[in-house]
Amino acid sequence: MEQIWKDMYDAAKAVFGARKISDYVTCGEVAAAVLSKSGKIYTGVCIDTCSTLGICAERNAIFNMITNGEQEIDKVLCISPNPSNGGPCGACRELMVQLMPESYKDIRIMIDYENERIMTLGELTPEWWIG
Ligand SMILES: [Zn+2]
Repeated sequence: MEQIWKDMYDAAKAVFGARKISDYVTCGEVAAAVLSKSGKIYTGVCIDTCSTLGICAERNAIFNMITNGEQEIDKVLCISPNPSNGGPCGACRELMVQLMPESYKDIRIMIDYENERIMTLGELTPEWWIG
């Protein structure tokens, strides 16, 4: 496995961990690491609320990247209680496509860290509804 995936895993692991913020908000059940084209790793955790105010870990990490002046994604990795991770949800996929409509298909996503299964966003989202 490329070292960068291990670095991303370690970065996500560092912020991973469920915690209760209030009677209405929990976070950290899922953590994500996004590698930008510049080579910097940005992390985010999921935030769950009793209504729809929360956010997925992936989008939180992407927003962290945008907040820090970057906008191009190279790789995405997620840690969840389920060891096989799984791919990002439809909303997270849609955000990545809209951020990079010309090149989103090249974004590499770790689907299963233990078995080193990597897919591109193009494989996960072959026919974009606008494109
Ligand atoms: Zn999502």
